[in-house]
Amino acid sequence: MATERTLSIIKPDATKRNLTGKINAKFEDAGLRIVAQKRIHLTPAQAGEFYKVHAERPFFAELRDFMASGPVVVQVLEGDGAIAKNREVMGATNPKDAAPGTVRADFAESVGENSVHGSDAPETAAEEIAYFFAGLELVG
Ligand code: GDP
Repeated sequence: MATERTLSIIKPDATKRNLTGKINAKFEDAGLRIVAQKRIHLTPAQAGEFYKVHAERPFFAELRDFMASGPVVVQVLEGDGAIAKNREVMGATNPKDAAPGTVRADFAESVGENSVHGSDAPETAAEEIAYFFAGLELVG
């Protein structure tokens, strides 16, 4: 399988509970390499721009405001089939449906405050990585 890069975000519910290291350990144990990482605090406008694909969804305002409610850790994960592998490690959107041992099964608080974001396809991964990182910041 081809080496890929995917955009991951450790969301405010998880940074608030000091879970960055525990979540990163799950990524690394699955063979994903963290090739870029920074902790930032998004404005509501920046969070809304990132999630603009969901602008018409009923939960959009809640999602935007949650993502701006505290620090996030944005990161680029690299590995064989990294996009799908990261989605596996994350688990289902709703923690009630997430497989045991996944990030969301172990740490998510609700369908909205679900600890992590991960790109869902190569095109979105490229766009989302470019939203947060310059090429020089990716160190494989
Ligand atoms: P993901 O790719 O698994 O993150 O899921 P989606 O792309 O469907 O949704 C994006 C994000 O929107 C999710 O990770 C949640 O944080 C949020 N979200 C999705 N569904 C709901 C919902 O029903 N209520 C709320 N409050 N947030 C939701």
